[in-house]
Amino acid sequence: MNRQYSPYWPGECRAAVSLTFDDGPPSQLKIAVPMLTDADLPSSFYLNPRNDYYLEKLAPWREVAKAGHEIGNHTMAHICARAFRDDPTAPGLEGLTLADIEKDIIESKRRLQQIAPEQREMSFCYPCYMEHVGRGPTRQSYVPVVARHHIAGRGKGEFPFANHASTVDLHYAWSWPAERMTGSQMVGLVEACIAKRCWGILTFHGINEGSLGVADSDFRELVNYLKVNHSRIWTAPVYKVARRILDWRKQNNIA
Ligand SMILES: [Zn+2]
Repeated sequence: MNRQYSPYWPGECRAAVSLTFDDGPPSQLKIAVPMLTDADLPSSFYLNPRNDYYLEKLAPWREVAKAGHEIGNHTMAHICARAFRDDPTAPGLEGLTLADIEKDIIESKRRLQQIAPEQREMSFCYPCYMEHVGRGPTRQSYVPVVARHHIAGRGKGEFPFANHASTVDLHYAWSWPAERMTGSQMVGLVEACIAKRCWGILTFHGINEGSLGVADSDFRELVNYLKVNHSRIWTAPVYKVARRILDWRKQNNIA
């Protein structure tokens, strides 16, 4: 492609970036949201509206949605493979059916729409990046279930690549886990997206918090870089990038 910009990204942007955040730990509200809102970098936050007190517990996220960030579906139960534990009786994806996971996804989405009623579409995020139920002969992907209820789904990916607008499976978009990365490493990944006109997705958990955290100084380095480069890098929530890709594909008859 010889053009100076990519027809599928807005203006003269040469790449798209989505900053995504899982599980809603306190540091996201305290550190990440104010930094991103100040820098005008709308991002995606994937929450678990579990138990009867979800409206009360998730109340602070209403303001986050109003500030333009995406509230995304991360299921109510957040069930992963039993392989994380040495306990064959623990709840796990191995014991679920597609109907079980669909029931959770539908109710979880309904609850999150109460937190973000202004948001027209919503993306999904696979707990523990895992997109299957069952085991061995009964193992099946639940990506088609997500596709029935969401415009896009964020996974991890078989390879550490960014997503091409023409080829990405929007219901299992690839992302880079950002835990313990330095600011320079994160900026380097975004720079690689510019070279390939790609959509890069970074996955965060805590900021200065938890075993999957990044340091606030490193996070700030990335935020400042994206802010300064906003005219050539489109930073947007997952559902907005997915909508743009779908519209571009339709206009260009790309299946
Ligand atoms: Zn999670």
